[in-house]
Amino acid sequence: MPKFDNTFRNLPAFLYEDVRPTPISHPKLIHVSRLANDFNLGLTDEELVSWLNGEKNLPGEQRISTRYAGHQFGVWAGQLGDGRAISLGEILTDKIGRQEIQTKGSGLTPFSRRGDGKAVIRSSVREYLCSEAMFGLGIPTTRVLALVTGDDRVYRETVERSAIVARVFPSNLRFGHFEMCFHFEKDEELKALIEYTRSTFYPGLSVEEMLREIITRTAKLMAQWQNVGFCHGVMNTDNMSALGLTIDYGPYGFLEDTILNYICNHSDHQGRYAYNQQPSIGMWNLERLLVCFLKEVPKEKLQVLLNEYPMIFEAEYQRLSREKLGLYKEEEKDFELFIELLQTLNKLSVDYTFFFRTLAEGDLKKIWDYYGNREELKAWNERYEERLTREELSKDERILRMKKTNPKFVLKNYIAQEIIEDVEAGSSKKLEAWLNVFYAPFDEHPEFESYAGPTPPNKKNFEVSCSS
Ligand code: AMP
Ligand code: MG
Ligand code: MG
Repeated sequence: MPKFDNTFRNLPAFLYEDVRPTPISHPKLIHVSRLANDFNLGLTDEELVSWLNGEKNLPGEQRISTRYAGHQFGVWAGQLGDGRAISLGEILTDKIGRQEIQTKGSGLTPFSRRGDGKAVIRSSVREYLCSEAMFGLGIPTTRVLALVTGDDRVYRETVERSAIVARVFPSNLRFGHFEMCFHFEKDEELKALIEYTRSTFYPGLSVEEMLREIITRTAKLMAQWQNVGFCHGVMNTDNMSALGLTIDYGPYGFLEDTILNYICNHSDHQGRYAYNQQPSIGMWNLERLLVCFLKEVPKEKLQVLLNEYPMIFEAEYQRLSREKLGLYKEEEKDFELFIELLQTLNKLSVDYTFFFRTLAEGDLKKIWDYYGNREELKAWNERYEERLTREELSKDERILRMKKTNPKFVLKNYIAQEIIEDVEAGSSKKLEAWLNVFYAPFDEHPEFESYAGPTPPNKKNFEVSCSS
C-alpha cells in the first residue's frame, strides 16, 4: 500500500478545496507507464482505473484542487486554476521520493468557472507522450502514470471522447499559486506558501537562495528547450512550475523546418510564445513571480537576482550549443559559429533535428541528398570542418558523443497525431511502440527510420490550438 503524506493540505484553506471527482463512464485503461513500478501501488489494472477514475479510494488519499492565478499572454487574468486537475495526494516512494499524483479531466471542481473539467483523448495523449519524450531527452518535466479513456462526449471544436491523464510530480506548485496570494492580498497565506515551498522543496536554502535556485532552474530549462527545438506554446505564468519543470503540455511543437520565430500555438496570434521568444518570456514570468516576494526580500535584492537570469541562460545555452556541435575545447568564436548555422538553417528551411543528427553522424551527405547542394550551408560546413581540426577527440569518439546530445527522434506533431488516431480507434499499440522510441531518442530504431528524416511537406506545421 502506498504511504500518503498530503502536505499541501496543511496550507491555509484559501489555497485549495476538497473535491470529489466525477467518474467518466466506461473507463478503459489505455496505458500504464513504467513509472508506475516506482509507486508500489499494489493495484491490479482494474483497481488502478477505478482509483484514478474516482470510484475507488485508497487509505490516506485526500483529493483536492488548488487555487491559482496567472498572467495569460502578458495580461493579468486573475484566478483561473485549477478547474480540472485533481490531486489524489502525495505519496512517499522509496525510489523517487515525494510524488503527487493528479488526474486531469476528472470533472468539475470549485474552480472550473465556465469549463467542464473534462479532458479529451487528443490532449491527454499529447500530454502523456510529451512528458515521457521530454524525460527521454533528459529535460526536467512532469511525468505520467496512466492514461484512461471513457465514453463521455466532450464538446470542443467538435465532439470528442473523454479521457483522464494521471500525471506525477514532486509538487504542482506554480508561479500562479504565489500570484494568487499576492494579488488578492492574502499576506498570511502567501507567507505560509513561501515557507512551505522553501522547507519542503528547497530544504536548507533561505528564501533568497530558493529564488536564485528557481531562477537558475528556469534559465537552464529554457536553454534545454531551445537546444532540442521544443516550443511550449502557452508560457502563461500559471503554466510555470516553481520546481523548474516543464509543465502543462498543450499546443506544443518541436521545430520541424528551422523557423526561429516559429509559433506552434495556432491561437497565439502575436507570436508572444514563438520559439525564439521563450528565453525572454521565461524572464518576464520570473519577474511576475519575484514581485510576489516584495514583502519577504528587499526590492533591490530581487532585481539583482533577476538580473542573473540572462547570464545563467546564456552560459547554459552556449554550453549546450558547443556540445551540439561537438566542440569540446571552448573557443571564443564557437557560439558565433552556432548562431550562423541557425540563421542558415532558418534561411534554407532545413529540418532542425534532422540536420543536427546528420551532423552528429559525421557526414552531411544525407543533407545534400535531401536539400541539394546549398552553397551557404557548404560554406558554413567548411568553417566548421576547419574549427574541428583544433579538437582533440578522434572523429569516432566525437560521433559517439554527439549522438548522445543530438536526438534522432523528437515528438513532432504529425507523429503525435498518428498515435492519437490509433488511441481514438481503441488501440494502444502505437503509443506503446513510440514510447519506447522516446525513452531512448538518441538510439537507432530501424523500424522508425522514416520518422527521423525531415517532416514530409504535407505533414508539416500540423495546427494545434489551446483547446483541450
Ligand atoms: P491551460 O491554458 O490549459 O493551462 O488552462 C488554464 C486553466 O484553465 C487551467 O488551470 C484550468 O483550471 C482551466 N481549464 C482548462 N480547461 C478546462 C476545462 N475543460 N474545464 C475547467 N477548467 C479548465
Ligand atoms: Mg479551501
Ligand atoms: Mg495550465
